[in-house]
Amino acid sequence: MGWLSKFEKRLGRAAGPVLVVIIMVALTAIGLSVRSGREGSISYTELTRLPGSGLVSEVHVDGERFMVKRTGGEEVVGIVGDADARRALVDRFAEAGVAVEYGAREEAASARAAAAVAPILAMLVLGGVALTVYRKRNRGHFTELSKGPKTAPVRFADVAGMEEVKESLTEAVEFLKNPERFGRLGGRAPRGVLLTGEPGTGKTLLARAAATEAGVPFLSASGSSFQEMFVGVGASRVRTLFAEARRVAPCIVFIDEIDAVGRSRGKGGDSASADHDQTLNQLLVEMDGFDHTTGIVVMASTNRVDVLDPALLRPGRFDRQVVVPLPDVRGRREILEVHARPIAIQDNVDLAHVAKVTPGFSGAELANLLNEAAILAAREGAEAVDHAHIDKARDRVLMGAERKNVLIDPEERFATAVHEAGHVAVALASPNTDPVHKVSILPRGRALGVTQALPEKDRLMYRKEYLEDQIAMLMGGRAAEMVILGTMTAGASDDIQRAANLARKMVAELGMSELGPISVSDMPGQPSHSAGLLDRVDETARQLVERQLARACKIVEERREGIAKLVERLLEEDTLVGESITNCFSAEEQKRTG
Ligand code: ADP
Ligand code: ZN
Repeated sequence: MGWLSKFEKRLGRAAGPVLVVIIMVALTAIGLSVRSGREGSISYTELTRLPGSGLVSEVHVDGERFMVKRTGGEEVVGIVGDADARRALVDRFAEAGVAVEYGAREEAASARAAAAVAPILAMLVLGGVALTVYRKRNRGHFTELSKGPKTAPVRFADVAGMEEVKESLTEAVEFLKNPERFGRLGGRAPRGVLLTGEPGTGKTLLARAAATEAGVPFLSASGSSFQEMFVGVGASRVRTLFAEARRVAPCIVFIDEIDAVGRSRGKGGDSASADHDQTLNQLLVEMDGFDHTTGIVVMASTNRVDVLDPALLRPGRFDRQVVVPLPDVRGRREILEVHARPIAIQDNVDLAHVAKVTPGFSGAELANLLNEAAILAAREGAEAVDHAHIDKARDRVLMGAERKNVLIDPEERFATAVHEAGHVAVALASPNTDPVHKVSILPRGRALGVTQALPEKDRLMYRKEYLEDQIAMLMGGRAAEMVILGTMTAGASDDIQRAANLARKMVAELGMSELGPISVSDMPGQPSHSAGLLDRVDETARQLVERQLARACKIVEERREGIAKLVERLLEEDTLVGESITNCFSAEEQKRTG
């Protein structure tokens, strides 16, 4: 938006608006001819699920845009900002046998050519067309799911776990079932419900299920769809959305990722932020505009309550907050059971065990895991999904696909094996660590190898000793390089970064050092601290890592034999699991030392 405002200044007051309108119209026209009218936009999570669905006929990748053509002819578009994620996604489409094409599509090229050849005339003609389509587009930006024939209605029963969360939504459901009665009985109608939590935890699913339970239409829009190139478009979209909501009420309006529109106002003076402020103001006006009997509940999801404008959270707006947590082991099991229903799975597969080895997975990731496992099984021609498929799928979801075709040279493999064995040795020797589940020297994603320790339970309380042992374990790789290889490799950089972050957190935020209970955070808005204190924090954190590295070196020194055995086995088998890891170490070497 910056360039446009510069234009405005240079052109002066009178000519400015007119020219800007013309440019706007022309750009809209070009933009519209590039984006086909049938496209719908989808989230990254939905996008990642498409390769396995078998319902995709082709994919065009144009910069960050993935245009996916479904077998039915319908087109959807998803934006993937991260280059690595893009690459991984393209790989997965390719693996699923879907044709992937790069670059802009022919329509886009011809549209640009036309715009270049006949500038003024085309501008005027397109201008008229654009204005009409532009109005249509404003309406087409949110979807009324209850009218869509294809999507099966989601009920609360389809949302696994989260009993408490569902409980807290029942009031909204009751209200929507009968708004007048609710008002008469003197209940204060819930107007806005903010669902907060990590991506993929089922916030959209819950909102949709609430609409089904109440038997009302579900209007959804993504917060980012209100951010547009052109001043005023966002605000007018908000208006259109709520006009539609009033027409079909009672209903639920769902705004996904509301932080895109709901970020605090008045930051920055350019026209883009002025537009943002205008959009947010419009949203506030709309939310204040309906009374108790209108029967509209606005639900919104976000992972960043902290950046929201405080005005959004005031009474009468989003005054109810519902935290949607990552699922615990029981929740994970229930989610797995829901998503395993349509898949053929071998009888001996224990979903309770799968739930145990997936701490930190979101509902979306669990769904994705089963989906990946089904694909692996299908590709192998297996009749049902077995444990091996699930294990492999889990690793994929965790760390990105294996770089199968990369041959690392023997020296590099050896160094990687020593490094990983160092992590294992320290993990086995430290009294407060989680059991080592798996160690591998197969390259995955960006990491050369991996050592996984599994928490036995989801830890809510981390103790000082546990965190210290974590740092020692992270430094175990580097320790083995130093003690056994007599050198250092770049492969430890990620470990070092994580150890340093953890140490700093212990010193600066958790009060777990000789500096005592201090709170020194980098977050903006925190009181500033003296340079002297900051230096001492850095120095104390550094010493903490240093001490744990020394401890790791000692542990490695005492376990050379076990490490040698483990290295040997790793070079043979690439990956080891469970007891075959611990068996490399003698009883003496497995003793936990302080
Ligand atoms: P969010 O809106 O929080 O990012 P979504 O609601 O889009 O997450 O969830 C993405 C997908 O993950 C859902 O469509 C569903 O398949 C799966 N999922 C997430 N949580 C659950 C759950 N509790 N039960 C069943 N499926 C879930
Ligand atoms: Zn490492």
